[in-house]
Amino acid sequence: VPPFSSQFADRSATPAFDVAALRRDFPILDQNIGGKPLVYLDNAASSQRPRAVIKAISDYYEHDHANVHRGVHALSQRATDAYEGARDTVRRFINARDVKEIIFVRGTTEAINLVAQSYARPALKPGDEILISALEHHANIVPWQFACEQTGANLKVIPIDPSGEVDFAAFEKLIGPRTRLLALAHVSNALGTAVPVEQFIAVAKRHGVPVLLDGAQAIAHAPVDVQALDCDFYCFSAHKMLGPTGVGVLYGRQQLLDAMPPWQGGGDMILTVSFEKATFNQLPWKFEAGTPNISGVIGLGAAIDYLQGIGMQAIAAYEQQLLEYASTQLQTLPGLRIIGTAAHKAAVVSFELDGIHPHDIGTILDTEGVAIRTGHHCAMPVMDFFKVPATARASMAFYNTFEEIDRLVAALKHARTLLG
Ligand code: PLP
Repeated sequence: VPPFSSQFADRSATPAFDVAALRRDFPILDQNIGGKPLVYLDNAASSQRPRAVIKAISDYYEHDHANVHRGVHALSQRATDAYEGARDTVRRFINARDVKEIIFVRGTTEAINLVAQSYARPALKPGDEILISALEHHANIVPWQFACEQTGANLKVIPIDPSGEVDFAAFEKLIGPRTRLLALAHVSNALGTAVPVEQFIAVAKRHGVPVLLDGAQAIAHAPVDVQALDCDFYCFSAHKMLGPTGVGVLYGRQQLLDAMPPWQGGGDMILTVSFEKATFNQLPWKFEAGTPNISGVIGLGAAIDYLQGIGMQAIAAYEQQLLEYASTQLQTLPGLRIIGTAAHKAAVVSFELDGIHPHDIGTILDTEGVAIRTGHHCAMPVMDFFKVPATARASMAFYNTFEEIDRLVAALKHARTLLG
């Protein structure tokens, strides 16, 4: 597998799939908003689901639902097989060594909080350091602030440069003997920067520092191989990769997970309980207290099957073409400034237009049927760096088309005429 960030460089290949045919798998895309066909360009916030995922969930509820891990009866066996089968699907998708390394959680946010509370908090001493970048989503900032406040450790931030790249030279100066963990976005949600995490991980390993990657924006857009990356934790959410909301994954290196105490207590995560003491279940269930999101996990498994049916490499290549086309077309608009111009990007374009408030742009685009996101994208420090309160952000998926980019550009022209 080539380095992840360079997979965002391949702009040559013709789509290896029929986009129009794939779109028919997504019932939600086939609707009008304000009398115009929907153009959904808010995929970084949440993607849409193909029928195969919706069907996997409804089939499960129609035929197989019972609680997992508990019953000897047929339905419980089936539910357990489907739930644990999806765990292996996830393992293969990210090339983890063992299903013990796949923990089901509510999403990226919960995955990072789990590591902050169960890995970092017990390990941190006053004066120790957690290293993050200035590119992070709030989900990869606030949990570390909690852990630092609880222990007297310090949060250190690697700066970014005006193109939206994480400053590698600054990182090499910041990492040191007190660094206990590096927590880095794989892809920035606010700007689309594909961080060359391999380089950062290599340096971290030389210092003996474990690395957590926030893969929320990467997982659906290029192949991810946790062994090739050599990261220690990798976090992602199902809803950004065609799966259901309320479920996600924490991948952790087994050696680290084994040494971590459970995060939440309850059913399923124990082996024995008396009022004096509980003994804990083995991995991965040690971290899955209570009845899990069974249908969500099954939906996630179906989403992965669907993505793999298309091919992650093919998805990455096509989305790069969409990105290049969108970037070129948007730049033809007078007064439009793209924020975030890193060498390697996922198909995310953040921009501002002639000083018009992004919220107004978003509202007018909505009347044209074009759905984009406007705001701080849960990355306020990124907004501060670029001295903007908010940006407008178009984020693409493999089911988007070049015609939809044209619709975006036309809608922006319309907004400029109305507001400019
Ligand atoms: N990290 C990044 C980079 C994200 O884009 C997001 C969601 O927007 C998150 C973390 C949080 O994901 P969730 O809200 O699914 O937990």
